[in-house]
Order: sequence, then structure tokens, then C-alpha cells
Amino acid sequence: MSKYVYYFGDGQAEGNAKMKDVLGGKGAGLAEMTNIGVPVPPGFTISTAVCTYFYEHDKTYPPELKQAVAENLARVEESVGRKFGDPAKPLLVSVRSGARASMPGMMDTILNLGLTDETVLGLATSSGDERFALDSYRRFIQMYSDVVLEVDREHFEHELVALRERTGVKTDAEIPAVGLRELVATYKSIVRARAGHDFPQNVQDQLWGAVGAVFNSWNNQRAITYRKLNSIPDDWGTAVNVQSMVFGNMGDDCATGVAFTRNPSTGERKFFGEYLPNAQGEDVVAGIRTPLPISKVQVPAGGTASGEQSLEESMPDAYAQLVDVYKKLEAHYRDMQDIEFTIQSRKLYLLQTRTGKRTGFAAVKIACDMVDESLITHTEAVERVEAGQITQLLAPVFDAKEKQKALSGGRLLGRGLPAGPGAATGQIAFNADNAVRMAKDGPVILVRIETSPEDISGMHSAAGILTTRGGLTSHAAVVARGMGRPCIVGAGSLRVDYQKGEVRSEGHEPLEEGDWVSIDGSTGEIIGGKLATRPSEVVQVLLEGSMKPEESETFRNFDRLLQWADGIRTLGIRTNADTPNDARVARLFGAHGIGLCRTEHMFFAEERVLKVREMILARNEKGRRKALDELLPFQASDFEGIFRELAGMPVTVRLLDPPLHEFLPQTEAQISSLARDMNWGFVELRSKVSQLHETNPMLGHRGCRLGITYPEIYEMQVRAIFQAATAVKKDGIDVYPEVMIPLVGTTKELQLTTDLVHRTAKEVMNETGIEVDYLVGTMVEIPRAALIADKLAETAQFFSFGTNDLTQMTFGYSRDDAGTFLPEYVDKKILPKDPFESIDQEGVGQLVRVGTDRGRSANPNLKVGVCGEHGGDPDSIRFFRSCGLNYVSCSPYRVPVARLAAAQAELEQKAFEG
Ligand code: PEP
Ligand code: MG
Repeated sequence: MSKYVYYFGDGQAEGNAKMKDVLGGKGAGLAEMTNIGVPVPPGFTISTAVCTYFYEHDKTYPPELKQAVAENLARVEESVGRKFGDPAKPLLVSVRSGARASMPGMMDTILNLGLTDETVLGLATSSGDERFALDSYRRFIQMYSDVVLEVDREHFEHELVALRERTGVKTDAEIPAVGLRELVATYKSIVRARAGHDFPQNVQDQLWGAVGAVFNSWNNQRAITYRKLNSIPDDWGTAVNVQSMVFGNMGDDCATGVAFTRNPSTGERKFFGEYLPNAQGEDVVAGIRTPLPISKVQVPAGGTASGEQSLEESMPDAYAQLVDVYKKLEAHYRDMQDIEFTIQSRKLYLLQTRTGKRTGFAAVKIACDMVDESLITHTEAVERVEAGQITQLLAPVFDAKEKQKALSGGRLLGRGLPAGPGAATGQIAFNADNAVRMAKDGPVILVRIETSPEDISGMHSAAGILTTRGGLTSHAAVVARGMGRPCIVGAGSLRVDYQKGEVRSEGHEPLEEGDWVSIDGSTGEIIGGKLATRPSEVVQVLLEGSMKPEESETFRNFDRLLQWADGIRTLGIRTNADTPNDARVARLFGAHGIGLCRTEHMFFAEERVLKVREMILARNEKGRRKALDELLPFQASDFEGIFRELAGMPVTVRLLDPPLHEFLPQTEAQISSLARDMNWGFVELRSKVSQLHETNPMLGHRGCRLGITYPEIYEMQVRAIFQAATAVKKDGIDVYPEVMIPLVGTTKELQLTTDLVHRTAKEVMNETGIEVDYLVGTMVEIPRAALIADKLAETAQFFSFGTNDLTQMTFGYSRDDAGTFLPEYVDKKILPKDPFESIDQEGVGQLVRVGTDRGRSANPNLKVGVCGEHGGDPDSIRFFRSCGLNYVSCSPYRVPVARLAAAQAELEQKAFEG
């Protein structure tokens, strides 16, 4: 019989940290904490297998589940000495979701379950606090009705506000018991009217209703969106945790809070968290009340806004317990933990621990610090940082001078808590829909009182996020950090008015939607208007030399981590660069050579494009050669610059690829101006241009087809390459040009063009008397080329997979037009991801694998790389490593990502091969 339910409590659990697949992250954490002696209220986890069963069996449960739940509930009752549904000493439980990967706030939670008209009296007597019992009951009705009975929480909120006004109090905590009793009655009548039946008074019905709601919440819209944004598979399912309640809201010696064992924003090694006295857990996470710092050092100079104390000061004993526990947890997990705790009558309980989400900055710092603390190895440090996150360290920050000017010019609108580092300037949007819409035209700052899971797509579209309420662990802060967005929360001096569509700060004109604002997520400053940015510290040290390595810890950690990665990876990293400057940037970021130099980009500069046009429009070969002769020096000097920049490294130069008409004038005005420049008649030129027009240029006269029909173009380019190479070699610099033929589909195409390259190279080397080592190879970007790779490898000395075109031609999706339907394809799960972003392993990937294997069967030493956009995508890199490629090539700013991803791919490959 399958085991579906796992108990934890009294120092022993049936599960452990390794069982995330079965217990979900939260369940596995509760089990592990129980096992290592951390105080956890007893409970049980219903496994993710039940969720899978639920969706496979028309939302029903395995037959043996009821019995298993009953047995485990009895164990909990035994442990805490209370009974579920007992009128005198009722057991109350929480019911929470918990998937394998954390999905903050995405699914539903129910607290205080087990309260009824009858048990609420027992709770009042056993706790000696009637007010507390009634408050718990009204919270429960509200949560349960919202989540299970689908009665909108607004109806209840409305009554709560009305009651506060009637009784003349400011906060919920001041409402007297009599008011709460009245409120419970009102809530129950709302349920009767809206749900069509009474609020359930049978505790078993309550429990199963809640369990069903958690499973159903796996497929609510916000959970689906979150999974999509974070690539979490839909079929993982969630577990359900049923746990005995402890109360942080039973009086002034109670509290609830969340904490990180290190700072999740900066990575600083300081215990860091927030709490609310006399409150329930949801109050902290929901960001509705701005919580207080847990430690003294977190208290800002001049005290907290409300004048209240830190936990360290208000409950020193409980704080000391918490410090012991966090140290134990961090040492045990050897990683930064994100914990939830409750203090009931001065006693500490842990409700959750999980690996804390962190920004790229924090990820790198924590990994490096933990190596220095001998907590983890270099290899583990490399595994710990998500490869894509490292780009955050390259993102711009505000220009210090500009910012100072803005501050002294009175543009500081206010300050909040720095929740996600980085600088962002954008136009204000007050809601998620507007943010999504406005972001199409430029950067947006999403400004809200607080965010909720419904805002997720708006947050994703925004360049930065600003909230006026909530702490560093509020929804906005947690999600922004996960996304790497600059974020400020709890900017209490700003007042957002959604109705009026404005945000006010004292002493300033109100800002409206569309107005510009700048936020510094590293300091918490909010500045009116646009603000110029300057390069990140890493860029200042590496590329500009305007900062010394000793001055930037961020740079030093970045560098150390990537050096460790380089020690692990076997995959080479090259770059796609067309100019000496791009080549330099990529080299400084750690690229070893160029994998793709797109020569056509050199043709677009102003003084050159006229020559290119003359060449294209020439009436005969003589005319073409004349124009090409004039272009040659330009190309040669560009190549020379690149060769010098990458001395001693391979440089793959691709011969001309795009359809010629891309260089031609389009509008009548442009044609007429070109006709003047070239001394042609307008009508004649217009007719020539229309003659060159192609219906489907991507599949038309481009790539090696140009080199075959106009060999003089390729001859000129090869001449330029070798003139440059010999000139550089003459100066004693090593050069390794690799000439690459694009868009090859047949052996003959490759043979003809390769012969042309060898012939021309030889001519130049004879003329200059200088020999250069070089290779001639082909791009593999047409499916046919991958299939006949063994034949091509008889001629080609290397292959480079052009996965952009290979994806286009394998799927038959136009690269330039697929945006109109691909997002919907991904939404409808026709495709798991956009195949132009991350390689389609099943189809396009198969061609890469087959092409590599077949090519190497003919030429075992064949060098194989990839130069499509996929060369900078971590998942694709993992795949290319598994195919045995020699290198990936990506744009300069992706080079650090590729270095890290290649090391991670190596570790996975080794683990896979055992
Ligand atoms: C490719 O097709 O993958 C490639 C790198 O070439 P381009 O993007 O220039 O077509
Ligand atoms: Mg291509």
C-alpha cells in the first residue's frame, strides 16, 4: 500500500530534507527540523503523490487516505493534549500548501481550522482570553470562506472596516470582544447569503474542504503564471501540511516573524528579519502592517517609525532561542535559510525553513563567504549561484554625481527599505495591467501600496518596484528579489491614491501615472524624475579601469567565482563580436576567441553603405569589383583591430550572409537620394531595387548562395581577412583566423566556397610572404546540413551550429514573425519554452547531436561549436555540453553567465556519467 501521509513531531519525523519531491519544500523542512531537534509544532504532510492522484482521478483521493489522515491526526492530538473538534480543549490546525520549489504566496493557506460556534467557547476558556478566541474565529471564517467557499474577502474586509469605524478604534487589535462577537455573526450571515449554506460546523468537513482547496490552488491563475515565469513543471503538484497551531497573537508575550540567516539582498553575514508582536503569521507576509526589525543593529538611527522595539530588546529570551536555532539551521543546511517563527507565551516555535531566495549580489557574496568560512567547497559555490543571476552584477547603478545633484536639488521624494539592489528609472504605473501595457514603450516603475500575487506579470514587466507598505519580507520584496528587479518597499512617507491616480510626498507636487521616477534599490532612495546611470562596479573595474579591484568586494567575488568555474568547465567560451571594442569587452569578461564575427555589420557604417549599394546595384562584375575594391580596406582594418585585440586566440569570421536587399533603400525618398549620390536616374534605380526584391528573403538569395553567384564578394572578404592576418602576424602577434561559410546545405556549395577561400588565402600569403595558420569551416544552420554532416566534415575543418536559423528552418517558424503566435504556443503548452531562447532539445537539439556525431564519424578531430543565441542560455549550454561540443559562443555580456553555466553543466555531466 502506498504511503501518502508523513508524521512529524516530538523530535522525530517520518520524512527528511531529501524528500522534497514527496513532501514538498515546506514538508521536507518541517521533517528535517523536527529530526535535528528544532522546536516545531507537531503535524503531518499529505504527499505530492496525492495531488497527482487528485488531478488524474477527477479530483478524488486515494481510498486509503481518509484512514491515514485520521491516524496521524490522532497522533497530533496525543502530542499536544487537545482533540480536534473537542468543545473543551479543541485542537486547531493550519493547512498549507508546499510545492517542491518554493512559490511564495502563490497558493492558499488556512489558519485556525477546527473552530466552530462550539469550540470557540472552549478556546476562550482554555486560553483564558475570549477576545483572542473570537478574533481567531473571525479570521478563520474570513480565510476559509475566501479560499474554500470562494466568498470574496472584500465582503468581510468591508464589515471589519465598518466595525472599526463604529467602535471608533484605529486597529483591529483594539476592537473589544463584544464587537468581535457581533462580527462573527455578520460574517456567518455573509457566508449564508453568498455561498448558499451555513459556515461548516463539522471540523472534518472543514479539514477536507481545506485540503481540497490547497490541491485546487495548484492550478489557480497566479500559481500557473508563477510556474511559467520560473520554469516549474505543472505536473509536480503540491503537498499539504496540516500542523497544530501555535499562536503569535495570544497577547504581548507572543509574536510572529520571518528571518533570513544572512541578508538576502546584499548577502551580508548578519541575521536579518522582521516580526510583529501579538500577530498571526499572515500579517507579516501579507505586508499589511509594516513589521519591526528583529535585532538591535537593524533598528535605524533614531528608532523605528512607530517607536517600538526590536525583538532582541522586547523579548530577549525568545530572541536568544531564535539565534541558537538559526545558527543550528545554517550549519546544518550549509546555506542561507529563510525561516518563519512564532513565539507563543515566550516560547519559540519554527514553522518553516527553506533555502532563502536571494539576489544575484547576495548569491555570489554568500557563496564566496561560505567558502572562506570553510562551510562549502569551491565546487559547491559554483553550484550555488544560478548562472543567469550573475548578470545582475553587471547591471548599471545610478551615477553618483547625478544622484548627489538630484538630492541636493530637492528631488528626494522619500526613503523606503532597500529590498532589491540596483538602479531603475521609469514611468510610474499604478497597477499591473498598466505596467504590462506601458512597458512595451519604455521602462516602468510599478508603484503600489502593496503587491499581491495577482500583480506578478506587472512586476515582471516593470524595471523597478516601489511599495509604500510592507517590510523586507513582504510579497513585493520576495518576488522582486527572485526576479532580480530593483525594489523599494515600505516607503511610508509616500501616499499612493489609486482613485486619484497619484502619489504624494510632502513638499512635492504629486506625481501621476506616466511621470518619471527613479529608485535606488540598494539604498532605498526614491527620486523624482529621470536619473542617469553609470556602469556597475564589475564593469568599472574590468572594462573602464575606473575602480581598483581592492575597492570592490563585488568585483573580487565575481572574479573568484568565475575562476573556480573556469577550473571546472571543459566547454570553451567564445563570443559573438563584430568590432574590436566588443571583442575587448568579451575578452575582459573571459571569452577565449570569437565564435562568430558577422561581417555584414561592418557594412552598415555610413561611408560604407554607399559602396555596398554600388556593389549590389552594379550593372556587371566589373562594376561590382570596383566597389568591392573600395570596401576592402575598411574590412581589412576592422579585422586587423579584432585580431590585435584577441592576440593568440581563434577568430571565426563568417563570410557575407544576409540577403542583399537588406542594404537597399526602401522609401521613394531614400531611392531618390541614392540615385543622386550614384548618378543614376530615379526610375532606373527604382526598377533595379524592385528587381532585387525577394518575396521570402530569409529563404532566398543569401549566405553561401551569394558567394557562389557573386564569388568576387567572398574573394574580397577573404582577401581582407588575410591581409589583416598577415599584417598582424608581421608584428609578431599570433593570429588564428577561422573562415566560416554560412547557410550551407549541400557538399558542392561547401566545396566551391572552400576552394575559393584556400585559393584567395594562398594568393595573399604569397603576395605578403607571410604564412598564417587558418581553418575553413561551415555553419550548420539548415537541417539538411546536419543530416549530411559526415559528408560536409570531409571538407570542413570545423562546424558551428547556427541555432537561430536551425530553429527557424526546423520548425518552419520565421525568426522575425514568430512573436505573433509563440507566446500563445507557450501559454497553451504546445511548446514548453520559446525555442529561439532555449534550444528545443527534442527536435532542433537532435539535429545538433546527430550533426556532431556524424561530422566526427568522418573527422574525429572536427572542432564543433555553437554561435546561435542559445550559446548564452544556461539550459541550452547544459544540453550542448551533453552533446560533446567544444565551445559555445555568445554575446559579450553573456560571457560570465556562459562560464558559470558551462561549469555547472560539467558537474551535472560528471554526476550523470557517475
Ligand atoms: C544563426 O543562424 O544561429 C546565426 C548565428 O546566424 P544569424 O543569427 O546571423 O543568422
Ligand atoms: Mg544564421
